[in-house]
Amino acid sequence: MRQSKFFMPTLKEAPSDAVAESHKLMLRGGYIRQVTAGVYAYLPLGYRVLRKAENIIEEEMENINVPEMMMPHLLPATLWQESGRYEKYGEEMFKLKDRHGRESLLGPTHEETFTEIIAKNLKSYKQMPLALYQIQTKFRDENRPRFGLLRGREFVMLDAYSFAATREQLDEQFEDQKGAFIKIFKRAGVKVHPVIADSGTMGGKNSTEFQAPAAIGEDTIATNENGTYAANLEMAVSIDTFKQEPEDAKELNKVATPDCDSIDKLSKFLNVPATRIVKSILFIADDDKKILVLIRGDKQINEVKLGHVIDADNLREANVTDLKEITGSEKGGVGPINADWADKIIADETVKGLYNVVVGANETDYQFENANLDRDFKVDEFADIRTANEGEPDPVDHQPLKFTTSIEVGHIFKLGTYYTTNMGADFLDNNGKAKPVIMGSYGIGVTRMLSAIVEQHLNEKGGIAWPKEVAPFTIHLIQMKMNDEDQTTLAEKLEKELSAKYDVLYDDRKERPGVKFNDADLVGAPIRITIGRKANEGIVEVKRPTDEKSTEVSVDQLEEILNKELG
Ligand code: ATP
Ligand code: MG
Repeated sequence: MRQSKFFMPTLKEAPSDAVAESHKLMLRGGYIRQVTAGVYAYLPLGYRVLRKAENIIEEEMENINVPEMMMPHLLPATLWQESGRYEKYGEEMFKLKDRHGRESLLGPTHEETFTEIIAKNLKSYKQMPLALYQIQTKFRDENRPRFGLLRGREFVMLDAYSFAATREQLDEQFEDQKGAFIKIFKRAGVKVHPVIADSGTMGGKNSTEFQAPAAIGEDTIATNENGTYAANLEMAVSIDTFKQEPEDAKELNKVATPDCDSIDKLSKFLNVPATRIVKSILFIADDDKKILVLIRGDKQINEVKLGHVIDADNLREANVTDLKEITGSEKGGVGPINADWADKIIADETVKGLYNVVVGANETDYQFENANLDRDFKVDEFADIRTANEGEPDPVDHQPLKFTTSIEVGHIFKLGTYYTTNMGADFLDNNGKAKPVIMGSYGIGVTRMLSAIVEQHLNEKGGIAWPKEVAPFTIHLIQMKMNDEDQTTLAEKLEKELSAKYDVLYDDRKERPGVKFNDADLVGAPIRITIGRKANEGIVEVKRPTDEKSTEVSVDQLEEILNKELG
């Protein structure tokens, strides 16, 4: 490709509203342009990277025998009403009406569409295990589209779906997909941790996220040194190392604790450590169930974990009005003693093995001292509902947990039979008995992955070093002087030869070398070949984006070097 004919509108500086470095680079380099909030045009440079990422995905899906297909973007509301997600999916769904007033939507994901096709076209256990995929634009009316391609309202996703007759088949399909995903990310040059994750609204419990550590990530992951444990902070488990020495139970004692609206203030006021206080927080599940949640004073409740224990459609912390009305106390004074109003009391594991603790007395500004589990209050269910803290031992190798911000680039789920039951996708097993198909779903945010690649491969000079399999061009040929005949002859010869094997961008523009080199930093080709003064001697300069300086090589050596670098 001749750069004089290429369209790569570079900018000296990124617009001030771009905060993520990857977003800035893609704007400066002319990879993308925003059309409206969270909606982008992929200019030729950006589109080349996107197509290369898609190619890798296509090859790896082919390797595990998963065929590609294409679903429509425009979907009828009825499909989603059948699965029960039309209302549940919420405001992220782009809804529209056609001229006949029929409700429709733009697909944010395609579980329903695939399940429907299977319901109508798959009849027997003999047709499974089966998996299908597509690479397609999704639409989600995100509340805060931001960071360029990281969180768009229109974005490209790989979505694969698996259909199985048995749990074992699903497990195998899941492992196949996981293996393919790991290869895809490796080839695309994205470092990822497969992590234990929350499965959100997808209706399945077993899920793994692929998290790419990056400076701008919207997620936090907890990992250990050995690489034997990695979890989304939402689900991270840590070992609690605190132990209280056993004590005799003392007499329960009510004390006034004015203005103690935090554990910190209470701890100072009563002169007890936070570990001797049990925090009580009231949650309202499904609008009317009162759930009192207890945790030791030095720990925080993790609402995602709590959500899994409570299993409600919606869960919220009670506000001051609720508290006063239900418990008789405002914030700070709620507690588990005589809490007859509670439908259920759930406690974190940290509440076990404590003696003579402080708990709220269900009266504003009053607490009980010397409260003891079982003697003074009861707990219906113990569970791990606390937020892990950095430095606490991990549950596998007991090493200190390390927290890193990261980007969720992929997410795979064992869905089970949620969709197939709701949508009537049954098959006949080998005894002729009808059973619901068992599903899995597997997604990669392809355009989001591009941001993750850039985040992980930026260099200090403000340029990028693309991993070779996704680089828009693998070789950037730069001719220093366009009116030098020797240079032109050599450049055109190299362009012709190298293009047979590599993606070559030939900078044939009548621009100053400084301009060409600046642009080359933004193209980030794995190999830059500069044709300059020594062209007549058959000598060129070769440089990788990560090299400090370029190296002079004779044209005869090029083939060997390129074979080594690019394969
Ligand atoms: P998030 O928690 O980031 O909103 P999600 O759980 O909604 O993600 P999924 O429904 O699992 O995402 O979608 C599969 C993949 O699509 C995600 O792992 C992510 O890489 C990508 N993705 C999701 N939402 C967006 C978006 N708004 N813009 C770009 N990519 C996205
Ligand atoms: Mg989302």
